[in-house]
Amino acid sequence: MVKTISYLGLGTMGSGMAANLLKAAYKLTVWNRNAEKCEPFARKGARVADTPADAVRDVDLIMYSLGNDQAVEEVVFGSKGILSGIKEGQIAMDMSTVLPATSLREQEAYAKHGVDFVDAPVFGSKQESADGKLWIMAAGNQAVFEKVKPVLEHLGQTVHYFGKNGNAAAMKLVGNLIVALEMEALAEGLVLAQKAGLDLNTVMEVVKVADFCSPLLVSDGQNILKRNFAPSFALKLMLKDADLIEKFGNSLQSPIPALRVVEKNLVNQGA
Ligand code: NAP
Repeated sequence: MVKTISYLGLGTMGSGMAANLLKAAYKLTVWNRNAEKCEPFARKGARVADTPADAVRDVDLIMYSLGNDQAVEEVVFGSKGILSGIKEGQIAMDMSTVLPATSLREQEAYAKHGVDFVDAPVFGSKQESADGKLWIMAAGNQAVFEKVKPVLEHLGQTVHYFGKNGNAAAMKLVGNLIVALEMEALAEGLVLAQKAGLDLNTVMEVVKVADFCSPLLVSDGQNILKRNFAPSFALKLMLKDADLIEKFGNSLQSPIPALRVVEKNLVNQGA
């Protein structure tokens, strides 16, 4: 049974998840590149580590949510990285959005140390992370998944098991392809509706109930109407994911023409 956890990467997503682990009474160690983000957790009783290698000392489960594949490279494989501090029998879990190939590279590296690995990226954003209402996908050995599932249930409203390592990372990219296209459709649709002189509040009432509705369209559409553009998922992260989806799609010769248009728009908007 998992009792002690390290959480590395206290950004928008990681900070919400780490806070919920503390609320669930796990003994928590935290590490973040910019150490200031550890302070609120220290005040609530978490141990603050100086390096990733130090962070993973003596815990059952190591979890991390990092900005991109490069950050995973540095935090996992770098000097004083996670791999230099782990011990046989521990479990490592990457909750970042990364290429499936990166997840597989992590799994192979951890296996050499007798450490099990789970790729467990998430859907949902800042609010869902803070509320423990994420939608979580997980992949890896099923017996290991069963061990970490109770932990994930404190962080998410659903947890789906996807089989072998890399599959959850793949599902995240499939989902973010859909998210990117939904966002583009919403933005284009609202501009068209406004130019047509429609009442945008009534437009959103229809978006809420029609057969094409989705929670994402509703919440982002309402924020646009309120002119609330505070970022919870930065455009630079969407652009990063578009690049991952493009690489992943190309590796499988799976066409993504609409995503290329969205990607170009993101670049034009300075993401
Ligand atoms: P964020 O707020 O930008 O936080 C990124 C985290 O990664 C921070 O802790 C940052 O440390 C750390 N980091 C970045 N580069 C690093 C490096 N080279 N070495 C060490 N640490 C590094 O991002 P986020 O929104 O929490 O996203 C985290 C992951 O979840 C990403 O892979 C993202 O695609 C994914 N995701 C995000 C959302 C969302 O709505 N935000 C939703 C689903 C999935 P510092 O604090 O020191 O910069």
